[in-house]
Amino acid sequence: MLNLVLFGPPGAGKGTQAEFLIESFGLVHLSTGDLLRNEIASSTPLGVEAKRYMDNGELVPDSVVIGMIKNKLEANTDAKGFIFDGFPRTVAQAEALDQLLNANGTPVSAMLSLEVAKEELIARLLNRGKTSGRSDDQDESIIENRINVYNEKTLPLKNYFAGQNKHFGIKGMGSIDEIAARLSEAIKAL
Ligand code: ADP
Repeated sequence: MLNLVLFGPPGAGKGTQAEFLIESFGLVHLSTGDLLRNEIASSTPLGVEAKRYMDNGELVPDSVVIGMIKNKLEANTDAKGFIFDGFPRTVAQAEALDQLLNANGTPVSAMLSLEVAKEELIARLLNRGKTSGRSDDQDESIIENRINVYNEKTLPLKNYFAGQNKHFGIKGMGSIDEIAARLSEAIKAL
């Protein structure tokens, strides 16, 4: 089973590359950002609570996203593997993911970390905000906050996965195809 964690700051291209990876490797895509936006669109109590955090560029509480991932894993027991996109984002989430996957005997295979310069991230997100309708992509100070939250709470996960020899840095600048080729190469070498 191939369980990939696609990692990187907001705007690194995780969603774009996840689409390519699910097709190439037949994986189930689990994006906590997409799952949360679906909850918001359906105006569920979870969505209403999550929106307050997301609109400010803050993380949604761990218990909320861990619960969503647990449900999705249980609903996809016949999957060939998963691509985790935007999850885990804290050490507590990584520990919970390890626990859930190890209980099934199907641990994380690798963390693929897309590396992109900060100025490029901000430019990409502002550009996406023009068409995506995402409120968290419109305002430069909220984007800055998301990058700061990433550096403070999410970046430590590099060490967490490096400690398990599962961290692979991938250059996330260049064309979509070039980056996809780099990811493929890293996955095939696993
Ligand atoms: P991006 O990577 O561009 O920030 P996402 O769609 O992954 O976009 O996330 C959007 C927002 O959803 C985050 O800023 C955060 O508020 C919330 N979110 C998504 N995934 C998580 C997670 N694993 N833990 C906490 N909050 C999350």
